[in-house]
Amino acid sequence: MFKWFGRVNHAPHTKVAEFAQHLREGRLMASRCEACGHVSFPPRADCEACLHGAFTFVPVSGRGTLHTWTRITAAPRGFEDVAPYTLGLVDLEEGGRALAWIGASVPESSLAIGMPLQVTPRLHEDVEDIRVDYTLESPKGATA
Ligand SMILES: [Zn+2]
Repeated sequence: MFKWFGRVNHAPHTKVAEFAQHLREGRLMASRCEACGHVSFPPRADCEACLHGAFTFVPVSGRGTLHTWTRITAAPRGFEDVAPYTLGLVDLEEGGRALAWIGASVPESSLAIGMPLQVTPRLHEDVEDIRVDYTLESPKGATA
């Protein structure tokens, strides 16, 4: 439902307004499947475990530790104008992994496997569709 980065793929309108409101109020949300209880971050409309289509939003902390990172110089379609950029993969405190941009509060020279990071949502409403992406920020500078 919510694609990473959102520059090419846009979320469908179902539940998007509710999701955006959570982000505006500073809550980072995952989805929990109403059939099997599986929690997905970022939220998914269809459960990745059982494919059930009904879910509820649940708040997550966004705290995690850096699993790995990579610098992208040959960007895929839709990202050419921001290359080069750096992506990080974090092991989330509540389980699972999240891929996100390395944020401005984290200099590339400071990146170290296992360092604590905070997944921070960025809501973009300057375009026709609401879209969200995530940065990985230093926990010291995070508000969550
Ligand atoms: Zn499920």
